Amino acid sequence: MTRTTMVAGNWKMHKTAAETRRFIIEFKNRLLAIDSRAEIVVCPPFVSLATAVDAARGTPIGVGAQNAFWEDSGAYTGEISPAMLEALGVGYVIIGHSERRTIFGETDEDVNRKLLHVLSRDLTPIVCLGESLDEREGGRTEAVVTRQVGAALEGVAPDHAARLVIAYEPIWAIGTGQTASSEMANDVHALIRRGLAAIFGGASADRIRILYGGSVKPANAESLMAEPDIDGVLVGGASLEAESLAAIVRCAP
Ligand code: PEP
Repeated sequence: MTRTTMVAGNWKMHKTAAETRRFIIEFKNRLLAIDSRAEIVVCPPFVSLATAVDAARGTPIGVGAQNAFWEDSGAYTGEISPAMLEALGVGYVIIGHSERRTIFGETDEDVNRKLLHVLSRDLTPIVCLGESLDEREGGRTEAVVTRQVGAALEGVAPDHAARLVIAYEPIWAIGTGQTASSEMANDVHALIRRGLAAIFGGASADRIRILYGGSVKPANAESLMAEPDIDGVLVGGASLEAESLAAIVRCAP
């Protein structure tokens, strides 16, 4: 089963609309020199999404949001719905990033509600999960990741499975410069795929992309993406410069 490699950039709370436009113009030009089959996505802050969609039109660059709520509209001050993102031309949504979970208190149940709602729209969800340093050192990685997969995917219709993208992001590797070794990451990806197979069956699990995230940079992207169960990368810090994100795209098989 061949899965299209995905390279996605999570900009977090960085870049104004003007900076976003400048990035996309430079990134698009750099991509012209790269012969890549990878699916490429950038995820700017909400206020820069419209600019990103406009600047990326006619390019291979997809645009994603970093979060979405679980209702279409209503009295939810400060929230943005999947329906609004779809109407804007956004194609992807990151759900359950560890910063949302640890700083903003998102639970497994919240992640599940958001995922079900995103899947009811024409959007590709990128569902993040991963263990903390304490959990890894306490030998609980397998239990934590298995719990997160089961909880996030509760009630997902089998015919939506192929649209799912999972991002395994060990919390201790995010923004720390400490990357899981390619083999270590692949072991967890294989565990996640077994969990997906238990839920959706082996054939569907084989179609679901599982990205790795956590201090990915041009120097380690190639060896990570060469692993059989690593289907791409979700990149934070190194996605903020067009040059380094393009260098990561160049590493995609
Ligand atoms: C992320 O924010 O999803 C991430 C992986 O960040 P970084 O690449 O900076 O570790």
